[in-house]
Amino acid sequence: MKIEAKELSKIYGEGENRVVALNRVSLKIAPGDFISITGPSGSGKSTLLHLLSGLDRPTSGHLTYDGKDIYSLTDKELSAFRRQRIGFIFQQFNLLPVLTARENIVMPVLLDKKQPDEAYLGQLSQMLGIHDRLTHLPHELSGGQQQRVAIARALIAKPDIIFADEPTGNLDSKSGGEVMEMLKAVRETMGKTLVVITHDNRIAAMADRQLFIVDGILSEVAAR
Ligand code: ADP
Ligand code: MG
Repeated sequence: MKIEAKELSKIYGEGENRVVALNRVSLKIAPGDFISITGPSGSGKSTLLHLLSGLDRPTSGHLTYDGKDIYSLTDKELSAFRRQRIGFIFQQFNLLPVLTARENIVMPVLLDKKQPDEAYLGQLSQMLGIHDRLTHLPHELSGGQQQRVAIARALIAKPDIIFADEPTGNLDSKSGGEVMEMLKAVRETMGKTLVVITHDNRIAAMADRQLFIVDGILSEVAAR
């Protein structure tokens, strides 16, 4: 999937409270790209990821997926598009506490009134090392395991692209390193596009393209 953002801006509030969170950001993402985004706290990283993934809409600007204007979709159509085509991983995992790991993972598929691909689920949980944890509730899992469940949930609908907002931000360095290695493996073995926000320069340096954002303005540090 080819993604193109044109002059995306996001302005919050009015008058004295007006904040330009994102200032005319343009970006092209090619299939298979591995992109990292760094920048100070409050610089607009999460805002950008939410706009690129259709979790939110811009104040102005356009976003196309394979030439199709995403923001012209209704909220309902956009949610379905996101569930089917885009995986999103959050810093806080965002697992539902009353559901088991397995139930959390298959939720996006059930919401689409489909049945999960059991063989694929088995393959994912083996790869992520959570196959013997599927009947556990989130609070019975370590942080690293919870994030690996969240990665499986992001992958279950077989999306082309994974967005991750500081996926290792809540983990100790060992589990964070494991999670990052798994995301890299997902990208390499499954051919997914990967866009990761991070505070960690070592993670940023793993990417093929390093983007940097300051005061809502995006620039590209280096393309390998
Ligand atoms: P980062 O992820 O880089 O820390 P964010 O994208 O979360 O930054 O925020 C960018 C700017 O937009 C910040 O100044 C933040 O306070 C502001 N902001 C983010 N979300 C909202 C919101 N819902 N309402 C008002 N201001 C917001
Ligand atoms: Mg953020």
